[in-house]
Amino acid sequence: MSVSDPHASLESYAAQATAAPEQTDAFWMPFTANRQFKKTPRLLASAEGMYYRSTDGREILDGTGGLWCVNAGHARPRIVQAIQQQAATLDFAPTFQMGHPLPFVLAERLAGIAPAGLDHVFFTNSGSESVDTALKIALAYHRVRGEGQRTRLIGREKGYHGVGFGGIAVGGMVNNRKFFGPMLPGVDHLRHTLDLQRNAFNRGLPKHGVELAEDLERLVQLHDASTIAAVIIEPISGSAGVVLPPEGYLKRIREICDKHGILLIFDEVITGFGRVGQAFAAQRFGVTPDLITTAKGLTNGAVPMGAVFASGKIHDAFMHGPEGAIELFHGYTYSGHPLACAAALATLDTYAEENLFQKAIELGGYWEDAIHALKGLPNVIDIRNFGLIGAVELAARPDAPGSRGYEVFSRAFHEQNLMVRCTGDVIALSPPLILNREHIDRIFDRLAATIRATA
Ligand code: PLP
Repeated sequence: MSVSDPHASLESYAAQATAAPEQTDAFWMPFTANRQFKKTPRLLASAEGMYYRSTDGREILDGTGGLWCVNAGHARPRIVQAIQQQAATLDFAPTFQMGHPLPFVLAERLAGIAPAGLDHVFFTNSGSESVDTALKIALAYHRVRGEGQRTRLIGREKGYHGVGFGGIAVGGMVNNRKFFGPMLPGVDHLRHTLDLQRNAFNRGLPKHGVELAEDLERLVQLHDASTIAAVIIEPISGSAGVVLPPEGYLKRIREICDKHGILLIFDEVITGFGRVGQAFAAQRFGVTPDLITTAKGLTNGAVPMGAVFASGKIHDAFMHGPEGAIELFHGYTYSGHPLACAAALATLDTYAEENLFQKAIELGGYWEDAIHALKGLPNVIDIRNFGLIGAVELAARPDAPGSRGYEVFSRAFHEQNLMVRCTGDVIALSPPLILNREHIDRIFDRLAATIRATA
C-alpha cells in the first residue's frame, strides 16, 4: 500500500516507516554515496533515549546525537506531546505581517539563555538558513548605518556553514565549493587552526596556535577595514573533523573585530544548546559575538528550526526608519512555525529540568579520559576533545583518503551497533547529553574494537 492510497490507515504509515523500503531509487540522498549506500543500507526505524533501532531489529547506540542535534536523547515524551498537541491546535500560521503567540514566547525564552546582550531572535528552519540570515543581517546592518561599502565577508579554511550560497562561500571545505561556480564575490578566508605537528593528542583546547588570529589583521591590511562587514567562525567546528580553537584565539579575533568595526558571527549550530557545558560556546569561552547562528539542538532535532541571535546594537540599527516600513526584507514561510516553536519550548524545558547543559562539564573529564585511552590503537594519529565532543583522527590510506574513516563508520554500525560520524578520516562523536558513564564506556569499547578490526 502506498502513502497516496486514500484508504491508507495510520497503522500502514507506521508499518512503512519501520520496514526497509522495496524501492530505493527515487530518494536522492544528501551528502551520500547513493549507489554504495543502496547496496548496503543503514536504515533507522525508531529511537528512544540513547538508542536507535534499525529496520533489521538491532539496537544502535547513538554516539552522535543523530547529526549533532538530539542533545536531550530520543523520543522525549514532553517534546513528542508538545508537537502532537500543537499540530492539532494550530498547524500553521504566517509570521509575515501577522503571527501567533509562540515565536514571541520562544524568543523571550531564548534571549534569557543567550549571552548577555544577544536578545533579539530571528527564526529560520535550518543551520544553513541561519548562516545566510546572519550574513544578510551583517551586510544590511552596515548599509542602514551608512557604511554600505562594507560588503566583504571573512570565513575560515575548513569552515562549515551549511550549504546555502552564502554558507559555501564563507565555508572552507573544498568539495562543498568546487562544483558550484564563483559563489559570493568579495569573500576571504583565515587559515584553519588544526595543527597536528604541535597539538596532537592534546586534551581540551590546543595550547599552540593563538598567533593564527593575527591572520585577521593581515586581511584587514590587505582589504582595508572599511570594506569588511563580518567574520564568521565556528567556535568549534564539527564537519571538518572537529577543529578546536587554540587557547586565547577567539578572544583575539574579537579584539581585532572591535578595533576595526567588523562584526563577529559565531556559528553555533553544533555548539549551541549545551554541547560544551553552557548554553553556548560563546559563554564557555567568555567571548561574545555580535550574532550567533543556531539550529539542531534548538528543537532536539525533532522539528526543523534554526535561530539567529542578534545584539541590541544590531537590531536597534534597523529600527530608525519610518514606523510603517519593513525593517528587514528577509524571512521564510516557516519562520517561527508553530510545531517548531512548540518543540523548542518543550526542549528548553527538558534541558532545564534535567540540567543537561551541566552534563558536558560533569562528564567531560570521564569522556576525555575514555577517548584518550584510544591512543596507541592502529592508525590513530590524533585525538581531540572538548565538552561532550570527541574526534579520533586516523591515518589516511595514501591511495584512498577518507576510505579508512568510512570503513570504521560503516563497521561500527554493522558490526558493533554503534553510530559514529566520519568526515574524511576523522571519527567524530557528539552523543546525547543524557548519557552516563556506562554509555561512554560502551561507545569507546565498541569504537576501539572497530578500529582494531579495521587495521
Ligand atoms: N553550520 C554549522 C557549524 C554546521 O555544523 C551545520 C551542519 O552541520 C550547518 C551550519 C548547517 O546546518 P543545516 O544542515 O541544518 O543546514
